[in-house]
Amino acid sequence: HSKALGRNCYCFFEDSMNANVREQLELIQDLRESVDRQELVLHYQPKVVAPAGPVIGAEALLRWQHPTRGLLLPDKFIHLAEKSGLIVPIGEWVLNEACRQARVWRDAGWRDWTMAVNVSSLQFSNAGLIPSVRTALARHELPPDALVLEITEMTAMRNVDDSRTVLEELTAMGVRISIDDFGTGYSSLLHLKRLPATELKIDRGFVRDLEHDSEDAAIVSAIVALGRTLNLTIVAEGVETNAQQTLLTRLGCSFLQGFLLGHPVPAEDFAHGTPTQGA
Ligand code: C2E
Ligand code: MG
Ligand code: MG
Ligand code: MG
Repeated sequence: HSKALGRNCYCFFEDSMNANVREQLELIQDLRESVDRQELVLHYQPKVVAPAGPVIGAEALLRWQHPTRGLLLPDKFIHLAEKSGLIVPIGEWVLNEACRQARVWRDAGWRDWTMAVNVSSLQFSNAGLIPSVRTALARHELPPDALVLEITEMTAMRNVDDSRTVLEELTAMGVRISIDDFGTGYSSLLHLKRLPATELKIDRGFVRDLEHDSEDAAIVSAIVALGRTLNLTIVAEGVETNAQQTLLTRLGCSFLQGFLLGHPVPAEDFAHGTPTQGA
């Protein structure tokens, strides 16, 4: 009896594993064609001056309109894009599309806005990154300081010497660098000091329970102090409640992002749906 059950469990496990592997392979295959089929889209989330605006820029967030699976968020496919190397052509598409949109918004009067683009670790270590940044900026006639590249703390610290070389070249061009998900990696202060970044983005994990967790508040304060010392702008991400908004502002964060201030939306909705300035 138990043997039969064991066999069933085994078969079930094996089938579901195969199904899972098959599904991933199918997704990678589909992803390969996603750029040509124009299935990738960018949504934009506002970044605002604390506590409540004005908007100073947007972060481009990738979505995939899959032909049968619907609109997929990055956690469903970015890791596959990384694993398969497809993140390189996809990342180039993202960079170009975000710069195109930044151009449109600048022409519409939002002159001082920055556009933030996420760069994953394979893109970051790829020699093509710098030329494709240069090409995208030139094609859309954008000043380099209109572009912010977001690199997670983990990526930035993985290979510190290489990171520094790439980041130095980018900042020499005038592009801004934001260290994303800050606090989740393991920055040594010495390395952080030598990285030519312009911004630290406090990870959502420290914002979530901020009102109830005095340790989180202490960590946010410490990051703010660190940012002041190193001359970095501090952004908090994942702001969902008024209490978080108030507290983060009081703790000294200069800029906020989160559902409270604006969800990621298609470009058409962004331009019309947020408090505007300078138009
Ligand atoms: P991230 O760069 O840290 O982006 C913030 C994520 O938090 C986004 O998820 C955003 O929709 C979500 N978010 C914003 N405000 C709130 C909030 O108030 N509450 C909560 N719960 N979530 C909030 P999304 O769009 O699913 O992206 C997830 C991650 O995927 C990004 O994290 C980024 O690491 C990566 N990603 C997104 N777009 C791209 C891209 O174009 N290229 C690369 N390489 N990675 C990307
Ligand atoms: Mg980001
Ligand atoms: Mg983040
Ligand atoms: Mg994140």
